[in-house]
Amino acid sequence: MAESAKTFEELLAIIKDSEKNYNTAKISKAYELAEKKHADQKRESGEPYIVHPIAVAQILVELGMDTDTICSALLHDVVEDTDTTLEDLKKSFGEDVANLVDGVTKLNQIALHSREEQQAENIRKIFLSMSKDIRVIIIKLADRLHNMRTLCYRNEQKRRAVSLETMNIFVPLANRLGITKMKEELEDTAFSYLDPYAYNEIEQLLEKSKQEREDFIELIKSRLRKRLAMDFDPVPTIEGRVKSAYGIYKKVYEQGRLFEEIYDKYAVRVIVNTVTECYYVLGVVHDMFQPIPNRFKDYISTPKSNMYQSLHTTVMGREGIPFEVQIRTYEMHHTAEYGIAAHWKYKEGVRGKYKLDSRLNWVRQILDTQQESEDVEDIVRAIKDDLAPEDVFAMTPKGDVISLPLGSTVIDFAYAIHTQVGHRMTGAKADKKLVPLDYEIKTGEIIEIITSKDPNHGPNRAWLNICHTNEAKSKIRSWFKKERREENIVEGKDELEREFRRNLIRIPENELADFLALDMKRHSCETLDDFYASIGYGGVVLSKIMPRLKEEYSKRYLQPEGEPQFSEVPYHSNRRASSGIIVDGIDNCVVKLSQCCSPLPGDDIIGFITRGHGVSIHKKDCVNYLSQKDSSPERWVDVHWAGDNEPSNSYYKVVLDVVGYDRIGILADIMQSLQEARIMTHEASARVLKNGNSSILLTISVAGTAELQGIITRLKKVKGILSVDRSAK
Ligand code: MN
Repeated sequence: MAESAKTFEELLAIIKDSEKNYNTAKISKAYELAEKKHADQKRESGEPYIVHPIAVAQILVELGMDTDTICSALLHDVVEDTDTTLEDLKKSFGEDVANLVDGVTKLNQIALHSREEQQAENIRKIFLSMSKDIRVIIIKLADRLHNMRTLCYRNEQKRRAVSLETMNIFVPLANRLGITKMKEELEDTAFSYLDPYAYNEIEQLLEKSKQEREDFIELIKSRLRKRLAMDFDPVPTIEGRVKSAYGIYKKVYEQGRLFEEIYDKYAVRVIVNTVTECYYVLGVVHDMFQPIPNRFKDYISTPKSNMYQSLHTTVMGREGIPFEVQIRTYEMHHTAEYGIAAHWKYKEGVRGKYKLDSRLNWVRQILDTQQESEDVEDIVRAIKDDLAPEDVFAMTPKGDVISLPLGSTVIDFAYAIHTQVGHRMTGAKADKKLVPLDYEIKTGEIIEIITSKDPNHGPNRAWLNICHTNEAKSKIRSWFKKERREENIVEGKDELEREFRRNLIRIPENELADFLALDMKRHSCETLDDFYASIGYGGVVLSKIMPRLKEEYSKRYLQPEGEPQFSEVPYHSNRRASSGIIVDGIDNCVVKLSQCCSPLPGDDIIGFITRGHGVSIHKKDCVNYLSQKDSSPERWVDVHWAGDNEPSNSYYKVVLDVVGYDRIGILADIMQSLQEARIMTHEASARVLKNGNSSILLTISVAGTAELQGIITRLKKVKGILSVDRSAK
């Protein structure tokens, strides 16, 4: 790359030399603002600060980036370091420039200090996913490249830290985007600071063998040129090169090779016009030189995930020195050097918007059609992982990256930071705005967790339904398990009773421990209270054990035939009713509840001895009883409900007549109210009365008059309800 421009005039000259059609007026305007804003700032080198944005802009001109990218490069530090706002930039330079500068500023807030490999990977992913516009990353890479070039002005500690970040974060990113030119310079510079001893050694070795090496490469090039001239006019471009210092270092230090043994230290590159020509040249090369087995790679039919394409082969000439030959087209060559940046060159001057994504789709399509290759799946996965990660990445205000599965809420985020942060959480902000606790985190957001100072502050039970990760759930549960035993017992007991009621399970208090024995043992609960507490903190999930409990219940408490506890006929089955009603003076007789008045436990009742159908039970205020009691007094017998007023495990149907205003939604509100009370509704029918009100007949199941009274009170509270009466039918 050219010497860094120090002044804007030098940058302008480079811009004019490039073949691109830059908007120099806009670029000059960006420079003027940056110059003014950074006027009193200095770099560590002592130079005016503005040399940095100029140099970054130059790197991007050399990559062939567009006008807006160049403007953004000149302005990349003004929002962070001066009083300029994004709004100012938007007004003067448009939305694109404002967004690019904003993107770069946001990336600067990410803490890069972590040395863990996993965290480095997260940071690379957050870079990719935060930058909807990939130009943000390209600017950031250029920024880093200039900082690396001027790293000698920083102190020893800073040099190491910045170099390590460069190696862990920026080199892989540049590689991922295929910008080989940048990648190699970043890598070699970082390497020179991280292991100066090895770097110097390799430099010296390369220097020592320089003449010999250049002679050798020249020899190969001229032989190739002579041979290719027979078939090509003009002769293809032939270049020679030496592997980068870091590339050699890796082979020497990581693979334990001797410097002399490195095959691809020398490389010759042949650049042609078409893919067909590539394969033709390969044939020629293998004809001229001895190919080394297993050293041929076809990255044309199987491009690397960063779009790199070439044929690679290692061959040996008469001198016995192996060397690599790379064969590619001019277009592939361009992509190999500039990667994604190469595709920006086409953006300006081409009609319509040239979207990066379509370029990547194109790569993907090529890859998808080449299913036979083993690597293809890996490559596709790599692209998808990098550009559409399934995880979200958000940051703490300090810039630490937290990675969570998609759908995670701020509660998950709090628990991911630290268990205590979760327990003490009282609220959260996303990008400085207050958000509700069920707010789903998006990649790139800065999440601030607001915590209580009270060390005893704890989570809310409802959080269990809001959070997404198992980690948060188990931490919340274990808090309740430890901290809130009394509360858990009450909560768990309520929940169990609700579930039993809903499933029509009725078990006498003194038999409950026995009934639940198996489940208590399974969850290591010694007492019923332990079991309730477990339900309370969520250790026992009722919905999971209910099916088995229901089965157990019908086995123990219902008939062996498995007759349903609640029969669908409008009165109770004889057998069940007979256990609920005692007919004075008659043992073991068949009893049924009359349909005319549907008596409930708690009602005053009387029995009528039918001919051959046992005793039918009526309410004492039933019209049938009142009209007939005198005609055949000998057939009316005294009966009463067994036990107290509420038999423990029977439900009875009853019809309610509800009258209310004829308003939209009244029926829905009634049903809602019944559902909340866990009342089973069998039938509901509504009709409009002559006076314009509506009358709704509801058939529901209740355990007795006490419960019925509760329901009536409840329904009377529904908006628009005028009266609720037990239907006389
Ligand atoms: Mn900068």
